[in-house]
Amino acid sequence: MPSDIAQNLASVEARIAAACSAADRDPSTVSLLPVSKTHPMDALREVASHGYTLFGENKVQELVAKSAELSEDDGFGFSVIGHLQTNKAKQVAELASEFQCLDSAKIAVALDKRLQPLGKRLPVLIQVNSSGEEQKSGIAPEEVPGLVDELTACDALDVRGLMTVAIKGDEPQVAACFERMLELQRRLRDAQALGSSWDELSMGMSGDLELAIAHGSTCVRVGTAIFGARDYGPLA
Ligand SMILES: *Cc1c(COP(=O)(O)O)cnc(C)c1O
Repeated sequence: MPSDIAQNLASVEARIAAACSAADRDPSTVSLLPVSKTHPMDALREVASHGYTLFGENKVQELVAKSAELSEDDGFGFSVIGHLQTNKAKQVAELASEFQCLDSAKIAVALDKRLQPLGKRLPVLIQVNSSGEEQKSGIAPEEVPGLVDELTACDALDVRGLMTVAIKGDEPQVAACFERMLELQRRLRDAQALGSSWDELSMGMSGDLELAIAHGSTCVRVGTAIFGARDYGPLA
């Protein structure tokens, strides 16, 4: 009997394939980032055995703990998908394979400073607050061009695109978030900002990946639909 995880993964892959087909998109243009926060390394290893090489984590503490358990044989790394404080930039610079939550010049400078001595370039996405909700992390869409101007000095950051967490709402509200991202991507491309092609659009999660793919997402970040519900323990 296949495990729940194997079955869940197969059904997420099928959802992505169906969404690509409906949107007339080549499935190779959409990657799946399994979001493994709160789940044990054994669960990550099982997903990795299906060919996944990057896992989303949102807490530096957990990135550090899981990296300590990681061996070369595991053959996977971590993408940081949670807001970062400058005092944790060192760990992210050392341990992460990707950073999807760039939301200030301060973080950019802190990361760049830690990456330079390592001789490491980190693939980075700018996290945008596409819903305007006050509690959401990410930078407002209209502030992105200003941030981008400040990134020219940070050459250890390989800026590849944009990331967002859409509103939890009805379909038109979610679609409006994704459309704001496409609009911003067009602006950045037109301005030839940073010489990046701005190809990466990380958007879509367990609940809204089909709509995100219909709007051009290149990376869906899926936790619950693969690993099951998260247990944050008694302190959550
Ligand atoms: C936890 C998380 C996800 C995954 O959410 P699910 O609804 O469990 O698929 C995606 N993106 C970010 C930024 C997250 O923190």
